[in-house]
Amino acid sequence: MSAGDGPSGTAPLIERDADLSRLNTFGVAARAAGLARVRDLDALPTVLDAPEWRDRPLLVLGEGSNVLLTRDFDGLVLRIEAQRIQQSHWAGDDAVVRAEAGRGWHDFVRWSVDAGFGGLENLSLIPGTVGAAPIQNIGAYGVELAACIEAVEVYDRATRGFDLLDRTACAFGYRDSVFKREPARRIVTAVRFRFGSDWSPVLSYPGVREELAARGVVSTSTPADVSDAVSAIRARKLPDPRVLGNAGSFFKNPLLPQAEADALVARHPGMPRWDAGGGRSKISAGWLIEQAGLKGHREGDAGVSAQHALVLVNHGRASGAQLLALARHVQGVVHARFGVHLEPEPLIL
Ligand SMILES: Cc1cc2nc3c(=O)[nH]c(=O)nc-3n(C[C@H](O)[C@H](O)[C@H](O)COP(=O)(O)OP(=O)(O)OC[C@H]3O[C@@H](n4cnc5c(N)ncnc54)[C@H](O)[C@@H]3O)c2cc1C
Repeated sequence: MSAGDGPSGTAPLIERDADLSRLNTFGVAARAAGLARVRDLDALPTVLDAPEWRDRPLLVLGEGSNVLLTRDFDGLVLRIEAQRIQQSHWAGDDAVVRAEAGRGWHDFVRWSVDAGFGGLENLSLIPGTVGAAPIQNIGAYGVELAACIEAVEVYDRATRGFDLLDRTACAFGYRDSVFKREPARRIVTAVRFRFGSDWSPVLSYPGVREELAARGVVSTSTPADVSDAVSAIRARKLPDPRVLGNAGSFFKNPLLPQAEADALVARHPGMPRWDAGGGRSKISAGWLIEQAGLKGHREGDAGVSAQHALVLVNHGRASGAQLLALARHVQGVVHARFGVHLEPEPLIL
């Protein structure tokens, strides 16, 4: 049976025994008992209440760029494919824009900068969908998604109804949110962004300033200039999942109490660290992995990228279980050398 929407307003067909290998950017083999692609958000309750699926596990997938599938999934995989963008209203001088969850993230960022809205440009070229972006409060080059969020529209499986969470209710943190803490509960259906009229570029990362300088636009940069610069840096620095399977940074940068970070830096001069506020320091997981001698390390087709130590890669036919074994090896070596626990960033299934 093939997937796709039924007539408008009706539930989509559910594909059985679906191949997930093209629905995760690691490109690992896995299958799902069912796969529903929902383009009409009103059809969502019907899909979730279908007698065959309602008591089985549910996995919401966007582009699968932040998941590691280590086994087949004996439940329903749900993809929200609604993609509309609407400028919903002005709030004073600020524009509020609503984007449906299935829209490609970078596509939406480009839409926003082309419309002259600033705020998301540092998050250019992050793979994935609009709907997944709030889950781990995506961040890059000194900016986190939370800064531009007005509210998140969800379908709440606990109350079996649509709901709206304002930014406070989303409880965003570093690669964290209420959605990540209660994973099976809410399905993001759309995100409302707020773009202020008082935009100024965030140029805290030297690499972004250098790229803009090379383009001759440091002091006059527009959101589109910053987006172009960030895209160029990312294209140079990160392995392209279309060429080499990966899920971006596999580990979070550890947040340590100040005193613990001081002691580590005293033992390992040159260790990068940043003030994370609240008496904590953030240290670089990539640096720890590189110093532990694991950059470019390979176990069969599962490897640590030779380009970027924080990225695990699938050189060909690695299974999810092999990539997970490699991740555990990296955690073990880093812990033995530095006494620091590395926490994985992707959802590991
Ligand atoms: C090369 C590369 C670079 C990356 N760089 C960055 C970066 O700089 N910063 C960063 O933060 N991340 C980065 N990532 C990680 C990833 O791109 C983001 O986390 C992205 O938001 C995931 O989007 P997705 O649609 O692929 O989500 P998926 O991987 O499909 O899902 C991720 C999680 O979100 C849940 N989810 C997905 N959609 C929904 C929905 N509609 N409702 C509820 N839950 C949902 C899933 O169940 C899962 O838990 C990178 C990944 C790659 C491959």
